[in-house]
Amino acid sequence: MFDDLKGKRVLITGSTAGIGLAAALAFAAQGARIGINGRTNGPQTDSIITQLAAKGGEAAFFRADLTQSSECKKLVDDFVARFGGLDVLINNSGGLGGRCKLEDIDDKFYDRVMDLNARSVLMTTKYAIPHLRDSAARSGETVSVISTGSIAAREGGGVGAGIYAASKAWLHDIHRNWVKEFTADNIRFNIVAPGTIDTAFHDDKSDALKASIADSIAMKRFGRIEEVAPAFLFFGSHALSGYITGQILDVNGGQLAP
Ligand code: NAD
Repeated sequence: MFDDLKGKRVLITGSTAGIGLAAALAFAAQGARIGINGRTNGPQTDSIITQLAAKGGEAAFFRADLTQSSECKKLVDDFVARFGGLDVLINNSGGLGGRCKLEDIDDKFYDRVMDLNARSVLMTTKYAIPHLRDSAARSGETVSVISTGSIAAREGGGVGAGIYAASKAWLHDIHRNWVKEFTADNIRFNIVAPGTIDTAFHDDKSDALKASIADSIAMKRFGRIEEVAPAFLFFGSHALSGYITGQILDVNGGQLAP
């Protein structure tokens, strides 16, 4: 039905595990060239590269802690040096960063959560823009920035997760701004907003809490990472979504219908 992701250069932040890794495997199956990123390099990195190659994708790992602006720049520079350009940017790295009620929040906690979820996306996108603009001009097709938002951005998040939820709402909104600034350059911006997906993100929850959350979802279960990945393919492909920008696709088993 579509084959335009073959050979595309795709950078996926926070892709050594969970939703980002599933997205990488999905792009590999389309024959894309993929940059994997995580905070640390380890033995599992080689095995991920091997898995991606077995699916049909060429991949390389780039270590970078994206809470630091200088590392966001280095990640983009290293990726472009390796692959010669950039066609799709997926801003997926992020996380809860801990739970803290309002009266206990201090500057350190605020900075940690905002750096992880907001600064990382802002700065990685900033340094990616010239390369995306160049790719769109050369190909004559739209290119794509996709960020991982959250159901929390829409409903406020659980107690203690207010900054996390607000950081994802910040992300949902700054995409709308970037649509105004960069549509003339043929760059599209869309959000994939997962509901409750079975990853290490939920490791701090008891089994009883997980069961009660599952019960609150229309489909009565957490989502699987493989069920989120196709949404990234959809937004990454000009053939599938070339006229779609500034949108949020909720992948949540009916947990929330905004
Ligand atoms: P995960 O913990 O399995 O994956 C997180 C990934 O981000 C890992 O690859 C990790 O190495 C990377 N990462 C973390 N901090 C980083 C940093 N400073 N620099 C670079 N990479 C870093 O969790 P996940 O559930 O797959 O989360 C992926 C994204 O999905 C996050 O943005 C998260 O907020 C979002 N999300 C998850 C859920 C869910 O229910 N799992 C729901 C909504 C949104």
